[in-house]
Amino acid sequence: MSELHDECGVFGIFKNDDDLNIVEETYLALYSLQHRGQVGAGIAVNNKGKIVYHKDYGMIPEALPESELARLGNGRIALGHVKYSSGEDVDRGNLAPLVMRYIKGQLALCMNGALTNYPELRDDLNQGAAIFQSNGDTEVIAYLIARARTETTTIEEAVQNAVSKIKGAYAAVLMSPGKLIGVRDPMGIRPLCLGKIGGSYVITSESCVFDSMGGEFIRDVKPGEMIVIDDDGIHSYIDDRVGKTALCIFEYIYFSRPDSVIDGVSVLKARQRAGRLLARQHHIDADIVCGVPDCGIESAIGYSMESGIRYATGLIKNKYIGRAFNNRKNNDEYLMRIKLNALKYNIEGQRVIVIDDSILKGNTSRHIVELLKKAGAKEVHILIASPPFKNPCYLNSDSTPKKNLIASEKSTEEICKYIGADSLGFLSADSLKEIVKECNIGFCDACFTGNYPLDVSDTSREDKYSQKIK
Ligand code: SF4
Repeated sequence: MSELHDECGVFGIFKNDDDLNIVEETYLALYSLQHRGQVGAGIAVNNKGKIVYHKDYGMIPEALPESELARLGNGRIALGHVKYSSGEDVDRGNLAPLVMRYIKGQLALCMNGALTNYPELRDDLNQGAAIFQSNGDTEVIAYLIARARTETTTIEEAVQNAVSKIKGAYAAVLMSPGKLIGVRDPMGIRPLCLGKIGGSYVITSESCVFDSMGGEFIRDVKPGEMIVIDDDGIHSYIDDRVGKTALCIFEYIYFSRPDSVIDGVSVLKARQRAGRLLARQHHIDADIVCGVPDCGIESAIGYSMESGIRYATGLIKNKYIGRAFNNRKNNDEYLMRIKLNALKYNIEGQRVIVIDDSILKGNTSRHIVELLKKAGAKEVHILIASPPFKNPCYLNSDSTPKKNLIASEKSTEEICKYIGADSLGFLSADSLKEIVKECNIGFCDACFTGNYPLDVSDTSREDKYSQKIK
């Protein structure tokens, strides 16, 4: 149960089937992406160039009530977005899709990722008297597109012009009056894929969406690719900047659902492999192995298969914690207490191996050890299905500062003592290439190694960009 915040989830659909209810399909798709963000959700529908939308705080049922869905009507193209979860307040203006009016009518946009040159771009736009409603990257991209559109003849050219100015990690979907467009950053840091539901095309963050909608996966959007869908079908454009690729390996470790396949690798398989490798790297005399829900479970199963130690459920996660609880101040301790419970029946008197996806601050691991010991575990051995997380990530929506990352300050022994475990072990850094060995692009592992795939020296977002609009 990573302490890293989730990513955002994006979805776009271009309807070619008369009987498809585009709002309903988008709503269902967002349910499949809920794990990527629980702070807010939104849907925008494009009916002959007129865009109607609704977005709000909360998980899907709270953010998108039936009455609002009915108001959205029907249309040809739609976008959907789920916003990442964070302990911080989120400006209302940062909820997505962002819908704007500009020289060519209306445009809607949503994204997953983070721009590394956001401060520079924002300052530049500020100098040009731009007026912002949010402190988010999406609005900066929207401005760049709007500005480019005054000098270009097509929306495709305007988007290409805008993305040539941005640096960082992004997977974005947008809709103009007649087109659905998906863009993935040149390094492919954030995932994006293309699929079909009946005759209608979909661009979204994860392939699990197609399965739950009864659709089919076509392919991943390539790093640096812009896909445009219109009445004439699918068109593809590749960014000149494509070179080294660096998919975020945390998509396999934590962000994505186990039933997704990203750039040729099954998330489930990657997690099980991490568990098998942990078993080879850390032999422990124990009675049972269990996983921390959700992401540690598949690795625990992998560990069990490799070691022969019995797999058992040791922790139960409460999946029904909504925004009201997430918004409580100083709620970390409450949240941990209400989120996880130990299964005494399986744990009591046992020597337990517990597998989790990662350790950031160490508080969750400490809580888990305490829970299991209280439930009567004789020994608690913590294994982590990734290497020590030592460096902040500047390439997603959340960047925990280095000083808060326990592995950047303490040795494995010191962390073990802090969390109160009988032993602690991590997956070796070399194992990362093994767990994603079929991946058809390169990967980023900077949070473990410090080798960032691009310049992250000026990514600070000063408070001057923030405004709280509740
Ligand atoms: S630094 Fe870590 S979390 Fe960030 S993109 Fe790279 S692998 Fe993913």
